[in-house]
Amino acid sequence: MKQDQSSCGYKYLFGPVASRRLGLSLGVDMIPAKVCSLNCVYCESGATTRATLERREYIPTEAIIGELDTYLRDRPPLDVVTFSGAGEPTLHSGIGRVIEFIKKQYPDYRVALLTNATLFPDAAVRAELLALNLVIPSLDAADDAILSVVNRPTAGVSAAAMIEGLVAFRRESKTSMWLEIFIVPGINDAEDHLERLREAALRIAPDRVQLNTLDRPGPEPWVVPADRAALDRIASLLQPLPVEIIARKPASSTAMVMGCAESLNDRIVSLVRRRPCTVADLVAGLGASADVVNETVRKLQQRKVLTAEPRERGVFFRLTTPR
Ligand code: SF4
Repeated sequence: MKQDQSSCGYKYLFGPVASRRLGLSLGVDMIPAKVCSLNCVYCESGATTRATLERREYIPTEAIIGELDTYLRDRPPLDVVTFSGAGEPTLHSGIGRVIEFIKKQYPDYRVALLTNATLFPDAAVRAELLALNLVIPSLDAADDAILSVVNRPTAGVSAAAMIEGLVAFRRESKTSMWLEIFIVPGINDAEDHLERLREAALRIAPDRVQLNTLDRPGPEPWVVPADRAALDRIASLLQPLPVEIIARKPASSTAMVMGCAESLNDRIVSLVRRRPCTVADLVAGLGASADVVNETVRKLQQRKVLTAEPRERGVFFRLTTPR
């Protein structure tokens, strides 16, 4: 078993990253950057460039399966393989085949999906996801008025249909579900709206409800994070749901020291292309030493590959020119 395998050299795999929720996670990115059915005001990956609900084979399914087969063949130590990235994974019409491939060829790995739930009203999409171990859908709005402000959906998306789709998936599957609610202060945190979200979440009956808030610079400068007291208040309003506040914690000690040191540049670019990161985020995600990451980031800044953006939590780095 290799102890130092990383996804450098792969086009559709990224990490593994030490995820604060999932442990050591290999990312699978099946969608070109910012092809999405939503354009959330807090999106860490920036503004949506192609808003669509159309399911297509945006990237050849066989190419994704080929990369996974090559990567997983040596049984690298991972906690989970996670469909995520800078777009909505369920827009890819081959996601069911890729899940099936992993579960059949590499059944020891847990498989998770981060999704905006906009395609859950479609029974055919839900059927493709039944073999997942874990789904983490987002639900920030109980009605279309709030949805239109927080998530700015493309035509054809409705909050009621998303909720019904999630209720149906819970009924149809044995997949664990952690429902994520992203709090945008002043928009979706009023008590009457939270009460409607609570009612919706009680119907969905997820295993966990996770409260999240702005952590990295998003596309809209007016979006600010909810403070801890506000999140505590919201958590108590959502009782008796199993609510947890997703707080930033130090990286897991399971973060592997990955090989492929000569391509640390590429791995840093690969991570910040998906979302802005501080040096601490990069150290945690890459399992590399702070000195090495600092030095590599400094050089990338000198070459104008990375741009620094000071924020409350620290200095975030993003690509100067999105790729
Ligand atoms: S946060 Fe997710 S669902 Fe929202 S715009 Fe970004 S990629 Fe799409």
